[in-house]
Amino acid sequence: MMKNVISVLAWFAASIGVSELLGYLLHRLLHSGKIGFLSRSHMRHHLVLYGPMRSQRPADRYHDATTGQIALGNVGLEWLVPGAMLLAVSIALLHFLHVTVFHQIVFLVGSLTWSFVMFSYLHDRMHVAGFWMETNPWLKRWFVSARDAHDIHHWALNDRGFMDKNFGIAFFWFDRLFGTLAKEWPIFNRRGYTSALERFGDLLDSPATRRSPSSRPLSTASFSEEHATDDVGIRAICQ
Ligand SMILES: [Zn+2]
Ligand SMILES: [Zn+2]
Ligand SMILES: [Zn+2]
Repeated sequence: MMKNVISVLAWFAASIGVSELLGYLLHRLLHSGKIGFLSRSHMRHHLVLYGPMRSQRPADRYHDATTGQIALGNVGLEWLVPGAMLLAVSIALLHFLHVTVFHQIVFLVGSLTWSFVMFSYLHDRMHVAGFWMETNPWLKRWFVSARDAHDIHHWALNDRGFMDKNFGIAFFWFDRLFGTLAKEWPIFNRRGYTSALERFGDLLDSPATRRSPSSRPLSTASFSEEHATDDVGIRAICQ
């Protein structure tokens, strides 16, 4: 009995580790531009709805990047398709290693639960003002610091116009391991932002994703004006 409990806990822990690693790698792939349509889907979240020059918490509800797209809830195809493939490969591997069906199920349920809670639920709450974890005495330190790190993910660009820091959502173990962790706000990369707009600027013209009602599509021309008025911009520049 005790042995069974320990093995279930061990497989659950393994599913968390694997989900964090694969989630990290997939998020990094989405920002590499290597698979164009995946990157484009993710960049709707990054340029259209929660662009680097905008507030990351403009409202008390989440702006769904998948409106008008094929999605499961608000999880877009750029996560679902590769996620399902990676999970299938992991399960096949466990089968091949003669892991029992029961433990395969523990792994599957653990991975799906963890990924959904961390990469969808918690991520979306990082873009909503007044989420309860902000003020919870036990969770607020962790939550606010993870959210700061995610704000930096939305801010830090390389010269080619790709976000290149903090690919973890709630935990940043693999950012630490692979050297992509940023705890401090870097100086805003204007050249990188211009490259991003050149690369993905057409996303801003699609009516399905335009943020209402106060939003204007960003262009390089309106850049400095936005920069001067946006709270995120000012905050980062003052630091
Ligand atoms: Zn991202
Ligand atoms: Zn995201
Ligand atoms: Zn985000």
